Amino acid sequence: MLRIEHLGIAVKDLAASIPLFEQLLNTPCYKTETVESEGVNTAFFNIGESKVELLEATKEGSPIEKFISKKGEGIHHLAFEVENIEAEMKRLAALGFELLNEAPKKGADNKLVCFLHPKTTNGMLVELCQEIR
Ligand code: ZN
Repeated sequence: MLRIEHLGIAVKDLAASIPLFEQLLNTPCYKTETVESEGVNTAFFNIGESKVELLEATKEGSPIEKFISKKGEGIHHLAFEVENIEAEMKRLAALGFELLNEAPKKGADNKLVCFLHPKTTNGMLVELCQEIR
């Protein structure tokens, strides 16, 4: 793993949370992006070598909507940047970590991503991500 790429935070109202995080982090939101396949609107902030990603559900029944109705707003996942996502997925699957997708999928911010089930990572939803080059 190369670094913590970003921390994903589930929010109810992205339009309200963007100015809040701009004040908190003292940096402007540099990108918003909708990932229709995941039912999510995202907003990104640079913070040193890492980023903060805000996530808002676009529809009933999407993963973020379910997360917020169960746990409320807050930290949703931790994303690690990897050099080679397929090799890393193979390595972790062989060690018994449960992958939530069998092949890398297209995520926000020009990334290939794969999630690990929280039940095999001490309750933390972990995202692996690799920049699409
Ligand atoms: Zn993420």
